[in-house]
Amino acid sequence: MAAGTRDKTVAVIGGGLAGLAAALRLADAGYRPIVIESRKMLGGRATSVVDPRNNEVIDNCQHVLLGCCTNLIDFYDRLGVLDEIQWHRTLYWTRGHGEVSTLKAGWLPAPFHLTPSFLRLKLFDFVQRRHIARAMWRIIRLGPGQRHAWAGRTFAEFLESCHQPETVVRGFWDVIVTSSCNVDVHRVGAAYALQVFQQGFLEHRWSYTMGLATVPLVNLYDAAGDVLRDAGGTVQLGTSARSISFGGRRVNGVVTADGFVEAAAVVSAVPFDRLDKLVSRTMREADGRLQGLDQIQVSPILGVHLWFERKIMTLPHLVLVDSGVQWLFNKGTDSEGRQHLHAVISAADEWMPLSEPQILERVLADLHRALPGAAGLKPVQARCIKEKRATFAATPDSVSRRPSAAPQHSRGPAIENLYLAGDWCDTGWPATMEGAVRSGYAAAAAVCRTDGIDSPGLVEDVPAGWLSRLLRGR
Ligand SMILES: Cc1cc2nc3c(=O)[nH]c(=O)nc-3n(C[C@H](O)[C@H](O)[C@H](O)COP(=O)(O)OP(=O)(O)OC[C@H]3O[C@@H](n4cnc5c(N)ncnc54)[C@H](O)[C@@H]3O)c2cc1C
Repeated sequence: MAAGTRDKTVAVIGGGLAGLAAALRLADAGYRPIVIESRKMLGGRATSVVDPRNNEVIDNCQHVLLGCCTNLIDFYDRLGVLDEIQWHRTLYWTRGHGEVSTLKAGWLPAPFHLTPSFLRLKLFDFVQRRHIARAMWRIIRLGPGQRHAWAGRTFAEFLESCHQPETVVRGFWDVIVTSSCNVDVHRVGAAYALQVFQQGFLEHRWSYTMGLATVPLVNLYDAAGDVLRDAGGTVQLGTSARSISFGGRRVNGVVTADGFVEAAAVVSAVPFDRLDKLVSRTMREADGRLQGLDQIQVSPILGVHLWFERKIMTLPHLVLVDSGVQWLFNKGTDSEGRQHLHAVISAADEWMPLSEPQILERVLADLHRALPGAAGLKPVQARCIKEKRATFAATPDSVSRRPSAAPQHSRGPAIENLYLAGDWCDTGWPATMEGAVRSGYAAAAAVCRTDGIDSPGLVEDVPAGWLSRLLRGR
């Protein structure tokens, strides 16, 4: 622990992954973080809800992580919940009618580890596979450095420059991009999508491996309060921040519904629209990072829980190609043999105005196509969860709107002891749990740096394999 920091209170607004990650790192560095969270539980948007119809705890939506999420894995390790994550090395894809293809790493080194199983994918004919392979080769050769040259353009523009036919764009690229970036190929910033393929699929054999929690999401954060308290922090659940108090040059605390929390520094770890409500006009004038928050766009996600009277799906998950539903997850079978499935639709704008019966009709049509053995079978119970403001929209113009955690790295003037965190901050990642943890770690490191204290900062990325490094462009 660094000398002299133990008495320094840092108010952290928001007990989602970003706020918790920042608070843990601050506590480790000897600060006294106070997490102010408006809800009665931690975890933020990666959370569970109690279904009032049967009192069952269900996740707002399946949350997926990948092997390349090094900071999130570190954070889960710190919370002692890594054992609750099950890793899947085989990804199952279908166009329906009972035909399933698998994508799995073979013996070749990265970036060719998925090539043999890709060549066996029954989803695409020879010509389509050749198109995909050509674009993939270009992505490999671009390397991380050159993807930033594409920052102002969409991924559809990149694919067009690689002459990808519409069937391949829709059936392959869009399936991966929409579920990882929560906007489709026509809207997503090319730099985000390129990063998904480079870092998530091509650089290392382990990167694409998919992690799924085996417990309700809320249970992953059950221990977070205790871990934080043991490290010297405090958690105030059910306490809503009303405003950040500003003295003209520095912030000095947070006004909450339950009183004033005085602090030497403030880390805001709430979404941008919430932060916009916590700051005054004077603060906006003093800090460029607080301007234009109302111009950041959002993108919705729809999660549909379905319970069937019998087991209809044996695979752990299915990626659905050319379908409204993009993923089906097998959430297990209860003691009475009822199976719980979860359907996920990202970038679900057109689904938001639909009623629950309309949604179910469309979801069931896709599900029956994907699982022909269940044709005609209706769920005994269903629950749709619409998250209208699920994530920021990872469009090309979002790149320049995302602020830095540290006032020192702000492009314009910034309040010197106000730090920002949240999946919408400038992490380079789309809105993900990994992005949220990265932003929290970055904010904590920035607080420490101001006081001249060493902080571990971000966890290193999974190093690219030797052949991936060799093949990259300059
Ligand atoms: C439906 C859905 C599916 C998703 N699927 C995935 C996925 O598969 N993989 C993935 O990596 N990511 C996924 N995400 C994204 C992921 O959940 C987020 O990126 C991440 O949880 C964001 O964390 P955060 O800490 O930045 O923000 P949040 O989780 O939003 O945390 C902010 C916290 O601040 C609190 N708060 C807000 N205002 C105040 C206030 N005034 N006072 C006090 N507290 C306040 C909120 O209650 C909340 O707990 C999904 C998100 C959604 C909604």
